[in-house]
Amino acid sequence: MILDPRQRSTTSAAAFDERRRQLLAEIAEEVARTRDYLGKAALGERVMAALAKVPREAFVPAESTAAAYENAPLPIGCGQTISQPYIVAVMTDMLEPRAGDRVLEIGTGCGYQTAVLAELVARVYSIEVVRELGTAAAGRLRRLGYENVELRIGDGALGWPEEAPFDGIIVTAAAASVPQTLVGQLKRGRRLVVPVGEAGGRQELMILEKAMDGSIVERTTLPVAFVPLKSAYR
Ligand code: SAH
Repeated sequence: MILDPRQRSTTSAAAFDERRRQLLAEIAEEVARTRDYLGKAALGERVMAALAKVPREAFVPAESTAAAYENAPLPIGCGQTISQPYIVAVMTDMLEPRAGDRVLEIGTGCGYQTAVLAELVARVYSIEVVRELGTAAAGRLRRLGYENVELRIGDGALGWPEEAPFDGIIVTAAAASVPQTLVGQLKRGRRLVVPVGEAGGRQELMILEKAMDGSIVERTTLPVAFVPLKSAYR
C-alpha cells in the first residue's frame, strides 16, 4: 500500500495534538506538586492556552521529534538545550504576561519560549548569543507565522536599550548574579524572571518585581538547572 503523504501528515499532526494535550496535563500535575515553591497550585489559563498552541515538535532537531512532547529538556546543538516544558510554563506564568505587553527574552535558543510569549503579548524581543541558533530560530519562527517577534544576535546581558523599558524580562540561561543592566530596562510594576546561580551548580529561579517607587522586591522560587549565561558583563 502506498501512503498518501498528505494523509500521513494529517495523522501525525493529530498525534502531536494528542501528545500536546497529555503534556499539558503533566505540566498541570507538576505545578500542583510544586505548589509550595510556586505559591500557587495552577498556572493562568492564558498561559496554558498558549502552550496548547505552540507545536514543540517544530522546535526540536529532526532526530528528537519522537521526544518532542516529553516533559524534559532536549539538546538542540551548539551545546545548548530546549528548556523543559514545565519550566517554560512556570517562567511564562511568573512574568504575568498581558496582551499589550512588550517583553524581552534573553537566550532565544530554538525559539520555543519566544513562540509561547508571542502567543501571549504584543511584541517579543529576543537576544541569542550563538549566531547559528539565532539564525535558525528566526527562520523557524517566520515559517510558523510569528510576526510579532524581533530577534537579535548579541550579548543579552546588555539588554536591548533602544527598546527599553520592557513590560517583562525573562532570562533563559543562568546568571551568576542578578543582571542589573536588565533590572534597569524593566518598567515599574513589572517583573524580571531569571535563574541565578553557578553553572552546573545550584541555581534558583528568581522573580524580581520593580515596585512603583522603583524599589526591587526579590523572591526565590524553584531550584533549577540552566546552561550558563555567557557574558563578559555579568
Ligand atoms: N529559551 C530557550 C532556552 C535556550 S537555552 C527555549 O525556549 O528552549 C539558553 C540559551 O541562552 C542558549 O541558546 C544560549 O546560547 C543562550 N545564551 C547564553 N548566554 C547568552 C547571552 N549572554 N546572551 C544571549 N543568549 C545567551
